[in-house]
Order: sequence, then C-alpha cells, then structure tokens
Amino acid sequence: MIQDTIAAISTAVGEGGIAVIRVSGPDAITECAKCFRSKSNIFAADSHTVHYGHIVDPANGETVEEILLTIMRGPRSFTAEDVVELSTHGGVVAVKRVLELMLRSGGVRLAEPGEFTKRAFLNGRIDLMQAEAVIDLIRSKSDRAFSVAMKQAEGMLSKKVKALRHNLIELLAHIEVNIDYPEHDVESMTSAYIRERCGEACAEIDRLLKTASEGKILREGIMTAIVGRPNVGKSSLLNALVQENKAIVTDIPGTTRDVIEEYVTLGGIPLRLLDTAGIRETADVVERIGVERSRSALEEADLILFVLNVNEPLHPDDRLLMEQLSNRPVIVLLNKTDLPVVMDTAEVESIFPADAIVRLSVLHEQGLEALEEVIKRMFFGGEIESADLTYVSNVRHITLLGHARQSLVDAIDATENGIPIDIVQIDVRTAWEQLGELIGDSVSDSLIDQIFSQFCLGK
Ligand code: GDP
Ligand code: ZN
Repeated sequence: MIQDTIAAISTAVGEGGIAVIRVSGPDAITECAKCFRSKSNIFAADSHTVHYGHIVDPANGETVEEILLTIMRGPRSFTAEDVVELSTHGGVVAVKRVLELMLRSGGVRLAEPGEFTKRAFLNGRIDLMQAEAVIDLIRSKSDRAFSVAMKQAEGMLSKKVKALRHNLIELLAHIEVNIDYPEHDVESMTSAYIRERCGEACAEIDRLLKTASEGKILREGIMTAIVGRPNVGKSSLLNALVQENKAIVTDIPGTTRDVIEEYVTLGGIPLRLLDTAGIRETADVVERIGVERSRSALEEADLILFVLNVNEPLHPDDRLLMEQLSNRPVIVLLNKTDLPVVMDTAEVESIFPADAIVRLSVLHEQGLEALEEVIKRMFFGGEIESADLTYVSNVRHITLLGHARQSLVDAIDATENGIPIDIVQIDVRTAWEQLGELIGDSVSDSLIDQIFSQFCLGK
C-alpha cells in the first residue's frame, strides 16, 4: 500500500551532539547507498547493524559528513518498513545538508509531520493509543486555523456517520421485526435486502475512507470575493483585513490563477480573499463585469463580501448585484458609517437577513470585529461550505470506519452462506456500534428499545 520512501530529521535540531535522519520505505537502503561511502556493503548488511562511513555528494564527490548508518530491515523496525538511520555528529548545517542530498536524489521525499508514526500504526507496529498520542501532539502544535478546519471537517464527518447509523438502525429494525414477530405480515426480510443495505453502507464508508486517506485539511481557505461598485471601499477593506490578519502561506499547489489572492485568518478561519479583477485598484467587479475571470471568481466563491457605501443612494448597479447575490452566502457591508447615511438601508434589509448585514467604517477601523463574528457564525453554522474542506485523516476514524466496514462485509458474507438472520444481525449491530464509537456516542445497552421507539411496528 505504501510505496514511497520518506525521510526527516528525527531528533531535535540545534541541541548539538548527535542528529539523526530517519529514512523509511522500500527504497530506504538503495537511496542511502547513493551517497554513502563505506567499507561495508549496506545492501548485503544484516538487519540491526551499524556501519561507519561518509556522506558524499554524488554530484561533485565532496565529503559532507562523517556518519554512523544503522540498518533496520522491515518488519523489525519502528515503521515495519526498511529503515535507515543516519547519525551525524556535525551541527545543524551538516544535518540539513545530508537531508537535502537525500531529497535531491528524487527517490525520497520529506516526511509529513507524524508520518513515521502513521506508517507504524498502519503497518500494525504500534497501537491506536500510542498513535493518537502522537497525532494529538502534532495537533496541539498546529495553528488555530488548522484546528478550526479540523473541527469543521469532523463536524461534517459526524453528520455522514449519523446518517449511516440511521440507515443501519432501520435495517436492524427490519431484522428485529422479522425475528420476533414472524406471524406479523411485515415486509419480508430477505437476505438480498440485507446484502443491498449493507452494500450501500459499505460504499458510503469507502467514500469516507477515500477522503480520509487523502489526508486533506483545509488547504486553501474559504474562497472569499469582495464585490461592490467603485469607490465603496473594497480595496480599503482588503488592505485593512490583510494588514491585521495576514496569513503566512507556503507553497500551495494549484493556486496559480488570474486573480490576486490574499490569505488572512479571521477569528481562526482561513480566508482566501480574491481581488477579483486581478489588480488591487480595479478590484471592482461591477466595473469589470463581463470580465470572465471576475465572473468565475464570483461564481466559485464560498463567501461573498458585498460592500455598499451608505453615504450614497442605492445605484442601479447596487440593485443588480443585490439581485445576483440574494441566494448566495453573502455578508453585506454597509460601509462609511462615519459619513451621513444617505442610502435607504431598509431596501437592503428587505433582501438580506439582518444577521448578514454589518455596518462598518473601514476608514476608522470600526465594525471589523462584527464582521469577524458574522463569518465565524456562518462558518460554524454550516452556512459557508467550502469544497476544500474534506474529512481529516484521523487514525482513530480510519480504524473505526475500517472495522465497521469489515462487520458489514461479514454480514454480507453470512447471508451468502445461509447463516440465520439472528446471527447476521449481530454483525450489523456491531457495525452500528463501531460507527457510534467513532462519533463518541456511548454504546447503548438497550438497543432494542431504541429500535422500537424509532420504528412503528404497526406500519
Ligand atoms: P474601492 O474602489 O471599492 O476599492 O474603494 P477604495 O477602497 O479604493 O475606497 C474609495 C475611497 O473611499 C477612498 O478614498 C477611501 O479612503 C474611502 N473610504 C473607504 N472606506 C471608507 C470609510 O469607511 N469611510 C470613509 N469616510 N471613507 C472611506
Ligand atoms: Zn478598489
């Protein structure tokens, strides 16, 4: 399943003394051999042996570092894969150079945080609690935006899991009716029906597992477009938000677009602000209406900040935008409240809900916190949904989903082998319980009561 080879510095750097680079994966030994010069032949070396030698830059033959190389062949290693550890004695610079050399060869990539542990778990090398402890540590180190994204993603996951459980409890109810009240003329409980329902549940679990295995988190942020007529204060707003909240973004693939983007974290929520015309000072969508990229940015946006100037009467272009935006996730910003209010704000209030309207003066930096609050509320309330939000890969979730899936497969197999339905029921019930564990539901002892409180026998 795991094919690539990963490497990372696995000791705290900067403390002096020994630093260890750990390399794990099928090509660990081959890759290390590319820049290791020694009397030992590490290809032939036994597992758990240490070899003295030098790291040499294959490009120019230059010796980079004197090292001790330890070989641990899978499965007798931390990750259960082939592992090579390079112990270097030099300082930070030397250890980084060795790692860079390894990465430059192309056959090794930098490990993600926790990836060695993840592999150890996936390969059955450590138990769940050990893995979770590591994952928790990684989590606690990550920034707020990341944890907010996790929360949201987990909320979405639990919604899906609840739906799955609901379907299983219906299936259980059908089975129960069939077992206990055979004299009732209830819907016949055929094996084919169980197979079909369990098959559907399996397919859904597979979809969830697929997103989990991609390990995606909120990569790009909530796509946010700032729109409004010229001079209402869009650029000022963008600048104000960026100045206060600029997010540090590193190397996000796939974001080369025609529009200028700014990343900010507002109330812990990562936003990707789109300057929809590509140039800061002509960010005005109406001005550039018909410009294809502006329009598509608006269409793609997860959230729209619609800016109006209360110091002017509503303009036909404002009304046009109001119409276009009325069914979108939009926050209306009544800007320039420091100036006399000329606009008929009641007209705006008749179209947009009161809690999606924020009065502010960007110039005086008033009302920005209120905007932040509205964004938070909409985000956690599920009003803003981003295609980039996927289910987080959490070892525990993956494990429980896998177990539930197995139970359903067992149920399907059992019906195919003519096993009595009351035995098949146990597998379905187990799957239901495992999914419950996933979302933190305490496993109920009175399952039958629950079934019948939800299911009317008479029907
Ligand atoms: P844009 O064309 O929508 O991007 O608007 P700008 O951000 O360029 O702003 C147009 C003008 O309005 C500038 O002179 C800003 O200083 C001014 N402006 C922006 N926000 C406010 C505000 O809250 N109050 C006042 N009085 N002026 C503002
Ligand atoms: Zn502007």
